Amino acid sequence: MKPISVIVIGAGLGGIAAAAHLAQHGVHVTVLEKNARPGGRCDRFSRDGHHFDTGPTLFIMPHVYEAEFAALGVSMHAMLDLRRVDPTYRLVFDDGSQLALTSDLKAMQDQLEAIEPDSFQGFLRYLDEGHRHYHQAMQHLVNRDFRTAGEFFNLRNLPLLFSLKPLSRHYDHMSAYFDEPRLKSAFTFQDVYMGLSPFDAPATFSMMPYTEMAHGVWYPQGGLYRVVEALMEVAGQAGVEFAFNTAVKQIELNGKRAKGVILEDGQPLEADAVLANADLPYVYQDLLPSDEQAERLARKRFSCSVISFFWGVDRPYGSLGPHTLFLADDYRANFNEITRDLTIPRNPCLYIHAPARLDPSMAPAGEDTLIAIVPVGHMSERQDQDWKVLIQQARQAVFKRLALLGIADLEAHIKFETCFTPLSWHKRYNLVKGATHGLCHNLTQLGYLRPRNRHPRYHNLYFVGASTHPGTGMPTALISARLAAQRMAEDFEGSLKN
Ligand SMILES: Cc1cc2nc3c(=O)[nH]c(=O)nc-3n(C[C@H](O)[C@H](O)[C@H](O)COP(=O)(O)OP(=O)(O)OC[C@H]3O[C@@H](n4cnc5c(N)ncnc54)[C@H](O)[C@@H]3O)c2cc1C
Repeated sequence: MKPISVIVIGAGLGGIAAAAHLAQHGVHVTVLEKNARPGGRCDRFSRDGHHFDTGPTLFIMPHVYEAEFAALGVSMHAMLDLRRVDPTYRLVFDDGSQLALTSDLKAMQDQLEAIEPDSFQGFLRYLDEGHRHYHQAMQHLVNRDFRTAGEFFNLRNLPLLFSLKPLSRHYDHMSAYFDEPRLKSAFTFQDVYMGLSPFDAPATFSMMPYTEMAHGVWYPQGGLYRVVEALMEVAGQAGVEFAFNTAVKQIELNGKRAKGVILEDGQPLEADAVLANADLPYVYQDLLPSDEQAERLARKRFSCSVISFFWGVDRPYGSLGPHTLFLADDYRANFNEITRDLTIPRNPCLYIHAPARLDPSMAPAGEDTLIAIVPVGHMSERQDQDWKVLIQQARQAVFKRLALLGIADLEAHIKFETCFTPLSWHKRYNLVKGATHGLCHNLTQLGYLRPRNRHPRYHNLYFVGASTHPGTGMPTALISARLAAQRMAEDFEGSLKN
């Protein structure tokens, strides 16, 4: 019998992992990727011995990777040389005070109580809540899909409305644990990973600081791109075929079915099913005929974006830890300027990554490799956004913050700079509005309310990746891949290997 054939549009993490699952079920899978290499947002480049992960820098939720690698029949630990990063981050506040987030509870107690007396008890209670949120959210919302409204809105899920606190705003909810604004920001900034402001995010997301503290932040030697390489190895062994520099222009339809795709050069390719890993709102906007669903998606909330600087530096900055985060006192204004005014905050919170602290081979001996990430509003047609000016503001903000740590000479030691703006994210990976995390993860865009892994009309067109269920992040992309592949396997039941 001729095997089922599937075309996957995009070799992001979700696309590669889903392709591997399907090929392991005996499907003939071809992945078409517009760029010259796999990885999508989890990308990298090297120059003069400096190696840069251009997207993710934090390997979090290790148990999810472990389970998802196992679901692909391989051992994460055999494929990745992981090292735990502890302290995870060094947080630096506007007044120069610092907090090193560590799993060493005695060190946490000393630091927290120096900032706010008796706050350690609040911290332990917060972790306890985060623990509950993490396990319940993973079990009931993330690690499963919702095919009907009834699977989401039902009496069995009703207790989650109380236990997961989805209706409380994360930042406001922090008053139950801390009075000191610096501590409220220290344990809510992770909402940015969901593309959300802590002033909008559901309190459910206390699961993120919890998992970072309890399960750790890790680093694969060689950088985060090693995850892409490991998955490519698994996909290759399963027989997946990849075509790079191959952009899809359109998904071909026939009645209620997807027939295949048409490439940029006009070549048609047919398949029994199509799985789109490219950003879901882009797929509706650009690859499918316009309809009201595409218009509805365009009106949804999109995550913020970032301006990233990649610097090759001619001397090491050993005083900079692997992950340094500068948090602004005017935390609320900071997020309002990003999510409402769609610009760069006057005093932005920002993040600096020094990968050579974790793996010396990321920079030439005696030099340094630095990445600075400044969250900004996504692209907007309504807004006057002069990215040249915004880049300058972002760069100056980084230098100003580094002065708080006594680093005043970085600008003079930069050998070369590469900079990504929302325009780059849009152009490189077809992310709508250049929103780095795709559709937001606010309450009305989660669970059954998030676009699902199968098109509601074309039943052999599937979706995987950040803007579909369950959402953004590297480990989540792997879950999304498994759920999408499972759905396809069920739809093609009888035609696939077990
Ligand atoms: C700056 C930044 C920092 C991040 N930090 C972290 C972090 O620290 N930890 C973490 O876990 N996650 C992080 N993330 C999120 C994580 O990178 C993403 O959620 C995840 O990589 C998304 O994978 P995906 O499967 O959605 O595919 P994508 O990465 O979106 O890949 C989709 C692929 O489709 C291709 N494509 C698009 N259109 C076409 C077309 N027409 N034809 C062919 N191919 C096409 C694109 O080129 C791309 O390769 C970060 C993301 C960014 C941008």
